[in-house]
Amino acid sequence: MRHLLSIADLDRPAIERILDRAKTFTEVSEREIKKVPALRGRRVLNLFYEASTRTRSSFELAAKSLSADVINFASSGSSVEKGESLKDTVQTMSAYRPDLIVIRSPHVGAAQLVAGWTPASVVNAGDGKHEHPTQALLDVYTLRERLGALDGASIWIVGDVLHSRVARSNIMAFTKLGAKVTVCGPPTLIPRAMETLGCEVEYTLDRLPEADVVYALRMQKERMTDSFVPSIREYAAQYQINGRRLGARQVLMHPGPVNRGVELSAEVIDSPQAVIGQQVAAGVVVRMAVLYELLAGRSAPQPAVTPAPVSA
Ligand code: ASP
Repeated sequence: MRHLLSIADLDRPAIERILDRAKTFTEVSEREIKKVPALRGRRVLNLFYEASTRTRSSFELAAKSLSADVINFASSGSSVEKGESLKDTVQTMSAYRPDLIVIRSPHVGAAQLVAGWTPASVVNAGDGKHEHPTQALLDVYTLRERLGALDGASIWIVGDVLHSRVARSNIMAFTKLGAKVTVCGPPTLIPRAMETLGCEVEYTLDRLPEADVVYALRMQKERMTDSFVPSIREYAAQYQINGRRLGARQVLMHPGPVNRGVELSAEVIDSPQAVIGQQVAAGVVVRMAVLYELLAGRSAPQPAVTPAPVSA
């Protein structure tokens, strides 16, 4: 495997191999010296064109825990603000000979493009509303830890499915591991032909008690050009997961950041059913496993592109 751009590129054995490797890395996080030399001398470039808390910090921690050197690049404060394009930035940063580039962008297909411009391995850390494959892997990891296996589990993904890259990647990952996925939200926030991804569609929470896992999504306001719901209050009244709607045996997930009082009420965020903190912790070991999978045993890439002139 050279890149991780989409969950579609992974079959069940490949997903399980990454999860099994991630499990072995939990021992590293528990040590006093939280580091192994597996990727010593390798360079990881974090290229973030969109806000991130969990994904960026956990990729950095994952690379450092494997002894790789990390270059963090955020578009704000860089020459992007002077008009430098993504391609020029990637070619400029390629002069540093990264072995792997982690890219987050507001644009669908950005990671795929970057993979064509660099000899480095590329990991998609979220491209617009398209995909977020490492989020799906850490969610599957968290669920395996909680349930043992996903086979036959009923997972409901609730909220703004239309603008969610997490929904797309997670539907694929959950179904590949044998779960039955239902997406639920207002009709305006469910894409047409959603069933072609192998899930069922519901527009009310009436059948939510059938779910083993409830996965709530944030309203992706940054991707909304229109008004998709009459009001946030109305949305919360119909779709918020709260103490009244969440059953005692159900598992509650959310990719973060949570809008308290919108998709989740405060009481369920802190309930024993919630595994939101476990999802964040899983982010480090799963991303270690992804970096290891892509880099360990692979020789350093040779530069295939001429670096663009570096602007100040
Ligand atoms: N953190 C996730 C993402 O980047 C989910 C979200 O932002 O709502 O897609």
